[in-house]
Amino acid sequence: MNVLYEVHNGLYINFTNRCTCACTFCIRQSRDHMDDSGSLWLEREPSVDEVIALLKERDLSKYKEIVFCGYGEPSERMEDAVEICHYLRGVCDLPIRMNTNGLGNLSHREDITPQFKGNFDAVSISLNTPDPVRYYELTRNIFGIAAFSSLLDFTRRIKNYVPSVTMTTVSTTLSEQEEEQCRKICEGLGVKYRIREFQK
Ligand code: SF4
Repeated sequence: MNVLYEVHNGLYINFTNRCTCACTFCIRQSRDHMDDSGSLWLEREPSVDEVIALLKERDLSKYKEIVFCGYGEPSERMEDAVEICHYLRGVCDLPIRMNTNGLGNLSHREDITPQFKGNFDAVSISLNTPDPVRYYELTRNIFGIAAFSSLLDFTRRIKNYVPSVTMTTVSTTLSEQEEEQCRKICEGLGVKYRIREFQK
């Protein structure tokens, strides 16, 4: 199983294939890997101990950051992610980021944002669109149209616990006007806005 993989100078952790969305643009639909990762579909979820054992095999000094991001939503395993962060904090000074759909509070039915405190240096949250209905159409999430307001609330809350918070949209998927609306949403929330490259 490809639990750890490299993208540029980052070491990525792929430890779940679970996700509460089924995004129309998800690369999982068109390919099974990122760069040289090999297939990111897991035969089963690795335990925390297994992930840590794999991390121990790596020379962490080679990397600029650790990123929880794979073929699934990392916050689905929030407690396990925190345990892995605790291990990493003990052995290296690398910044740790999570790329998330921002729906973890709905999924866990509680506010999980305090769990990021001290464990994550950055989070990247998929905004996708400025419009709640369009958001639902694009993400096909299991929670419905109300998910969009929860996403914004998650972002507002996580800012209290994580130094660097960025919301993202994908290039070529929005009009300039929509991107401007996204920029305003991010400004209102006090977080950064980034348009990330479209990946086929
Ligand atoms: S949230 Fe991410 S992993 Fe989940 S379906 Fe959307 S793009 Fe894919």
